[in-house]
Amino acid sequence: MWTPDYTAARRGGHAAGLDSIVILIQTMEILFHNTLTRRKELFVPQNAARVTMYVCGPTVYNFAHIGNARPAVVFDVLARLLRLSYPLVYARNITDVDDKINAAARERGEPIGVITRRYTAAYHEDMQALGVLPPDIEPRVTDHIDDIISMIERLLAAGHAYGAEGHVLFHVASFPEYGQLSGRDPEELLAGARVEVAPYKRDPGDFVLWKPSDDTTVGWDSPWGRGRPGWHIECSSMIERHLGETIDIHGGGQDLIFPHHENEIAQGTCAHGGRAYCRYWLHNGFLNVDAEKMSKSLGNVLLVRELLTEAPGEVIRLALLSARYREPLDWNDALLADSRRKLDRLYGALRGVTPGEAPPAPPPEVVAALCDDLNTPKALAALFGLVRQLNTAVAVDERARLAAELRAGAALLGVGQQDPEVWFAGADSDGGPSEQEIERRLAERTAARQRRDFAAADRIRDELAAAGVNIEDGPEGTRWRRTG
Ligand code: AMP
Ligand code: ZN
Repeated sequence: MWTPDYTAARRGGHAAGLDSIVILIQTMEILFHNTLTRRKELFVPQNAARVTMYVCGPTVYNFAHIGNARPAVVFDVLARLLRLSYPLVYARNITDVDDKINAAARERGEPIGVITRRYTAAYHEDMQALGVLPPDIEPRVTDHIDDIISMIERLLAAGHAYGAEGHVLFHVASFPEYGQLSGRDPEELLAGARVEVAPYKRDPGDFVLWKPSDDTTVGWDSPWGRGRPGWHIECSSMIERHLGETIDIHGGGQDLIFPHHENEIAQGTCAHGGRAYCRYWLHNGFLNVDAEKMSKSLGNVLLVRELLTEAPGEVIRLALLSARYREPLDWNDALLADSRRKLDRLYGALRGVTPGEAPPAPPPEVVAALCDDLNTPKALAALFGLVRQLNTAVAVDERARLAAELRAGAALLGVGQQDPEVWFAGADSDGGPSEQEIERRLAERTAARQRRDFAAADRIRDELAAAGVNIEDGPEGTRWRRTG
């Protein structure tokens, strides 16, 4: 449990702000549910002067959907929490080599680099809109081909991999601990399911480290001919390069436990003479839409950028934090409306209060909730406890102190940092269109007028009026104001 040491903080005083925070957090105990041990464990970093965390990032051939945003937001909160106590190095990669990217490039007749650059930029925009801070390092696979080749060479030399028909495969039978993360039985994996097995594999469970590329497919020269890396080796190599042989925390969605993370462990451990690959594995649960799995065939894939036209990024972020990260999260309109109301309450309480000096640490009850395996619903409940206190407090200095605490607690979750007046100018509590949405509709109207489609322009004006937004055309352009 986290107990703030206020005496130490006071001793440090405000002039030594940073020092006092370091003193404070030495007593912070973080518990994680570790997928590897299937237990909640006390987090003990291998080196408290450099905590390392890696999260599998996006494969950049499409816009991010709301499910992709869940790990980014969840592990952003974890990074914020860890930074209270430790110097953290957080890496989240960009997968810019992948057969899905190659297929998209073929289908759309565009060069791979054009596709990966476009969707990397789009990912950055979307994550920024959701208040996700950039990781310390964002490695791209294309910058690490040499590292990948080097790791594969070491795996071959140590007898954990073999070459066959231009491929290099990891030999699962060479690593007895295989299956430890996913709890799968290696015997079963070795015996192989009834799926068709590539003829060049010794055992059905063996997985690709390197594969050959034909003339029309992207590839790099290697000791095994021109080819490209398999997916799993990419993450292991980037981790080795940037974070070291053994990392503290590895995160990602539950779908990645097998085979991706199981294979990462096999590669990393075997390339490093049996040393542990990662000490704490954290996996977020899946996000479903209206109780159904998000899928292209159901047509219910919600893109972050589409949602951003319906609600401010902060509302979406709060909705993503409304459930515990390991639990499934059901996404629906009610959730979004509820998150919007919550932020209205939070900013409503802050309205008209000049926050006092920032406290030496975020409110203990918010921190304690997050220290308990990142219990974000409990942290939010603690935050709204402060909102209630602020709403009933009368004395000016008491209100200033509570407002500062509320701000500090909200910052840990990455919400509540706007000027309340800006919030209320942008987000209408009755569910009216956001400022962003209004601007988007106005841009559409301008475009319609430019192409002399006045019917379309008038329709947009009428729709906005129906939503409580009046627009006026003047010499300096179009202005709008809310009517209701
Ligand atoms: P991808 O770009 O497909 O490699 O996925 C990026 C991240 O999003 C991975 O950590 C996935 O586990 C995660 N992810 C994908 N779909 C969902 C979903 N519906 N709910 C939660 N996480 C997801
Ligand atoms: Zn990965």
